[in-house]
Amino acid sequence: MKFETLAIHAGQEPDPNNGAVMTPVYLTSTYKQDGVGKPRQGYEYSRTKNPTRFALENCLAALEGGAYGLAFASGLAATDTVLRLLDADSHVLAGNDVYGGTFRLFDKVLRRFRLDFDFVDTTDPESVADALTPHTRLVWLETPTNPLLRITDIRAAAEVVHAHPNKPLLVVDNTFATPYLQRPLELGADIVVHSMTKYLGGHSDVVGGAVIVKDKGLAERLYFLQNAVGAVLGPMDSFLVLRGIKTLPLRMDRHFENAAAIADFLASHPKVEKLIYPFHESHPQYHIARRQMKNGGGMISFLVKGGREAAVRVAEATKIFTLAESLGGVESLIEVPAAMTHLSVAGSQLDVDPALVRLSVGIEHKDDLLEDLRQALDA
Ligand SMILES: *Cc1c(COP(=O)(O)O)cnc(C)c1O
Repeated sequence: MKFETLAIHAGQEPDPNNGAVMTPVYLTSTYKQDGVGKPRQGYEYSRTKNPTRFALENCLAALEGGAYGLAFASGLAATDTVLRLLDADSHVLAGNDVYGGTFRLFDKVLRRFRLDFDFVDTTDPESVADALTPHTRLVWLETPTNPLLRITDIRAAAEVVHAHPNKPLLVVDNTFATPYLQRPLELGADIVVHSMTKYLGGHSDVVGGAVIVKDKGLAERLYFLQNAVGAVLGPMDSFLVLRGIKTLPLRMDRHFENAAAIADFLASHPKVEKLIYPFHESHPQYHIARRQMKNGGGMISFLVKGGREAAVRVAEATKIFTLAESLGGVESLIEVPAAMTHLSVAGSQLDVDPALVRLSVGIEHKDDLLEDLRQALDA
């Protein structure tokens, strides 16, 4: 089946008892067993397995071209569970432009559990190769990155990582691209992670995370951790993400159509110092982006002339673009990463230029969005 069909049907059969077309929200913590130690279809307790969450997990696996999906209470809960695959004294190599919360989890929390981290420019496969150590067990990539929209060639990175004798796990945070634009498992990644809070949910009404893999042994270790650690997604949230995913292809196409028009507008605007958009020819990894992604997505960053003050002025002057953190919803958002989403990396090697403005371009009419940015830049 094609992606658009899977988005609507994968993991979601009409209810066998009454034909309900939509997956019911199974608000239950426990299940009647047919005899002692005889649960029905593996349903014993909802931390372990819940039918609404299970439908979502199967849908996610199908969309990423994987075999197993796992849903978590947030993107960071998903990330944390993946890192628990490692033993103490393992070395992790991560991109030097990963999501600020990922950096904080690695640097401020997991280091205390004797995991060792290095952050390098993963857009260059050689710097990845050079930074692998005899203790490296996991390589963490984000592409496109948040907020600089840097692109890593996943296939090239997979070759370098899998040539290492340890066979480290290659993890790709696919939040910005979504499986509609990019499927890392098909390009050699071992694990895909998502913040479903963003495009998969798509309506800014739920916080959730996901992990998807192909390998059965790896899936079993992750299911064990999901149940043992317990940061699972609730049934209502699972339902909301399932509903959001049904329109993912339509939304992503429209995000792109709007973002491409805005990128062109910003590229030639006199108050814009620099545009950053993966599907704009000025992007340093434009050709990799074109090869690896179906379209350029809805995220745009740009540097405003005049530094921090000018960036703040623009972000506070828009009327349709809402000044808010997060991204990936149907509504357009604007923010200044150095002062908002990426405050936690201030002063670190992931420090963000204070003049950077980040847009999450929504699916409103593009003329209204263009007009809004025009008046904000002129203000
Ligand atoms: C938001 C985000 C996360 C964290 O997800 P939460 O759902 O907020 O925990 C991880 N990676 C990226 C790229 C993100 O944008």
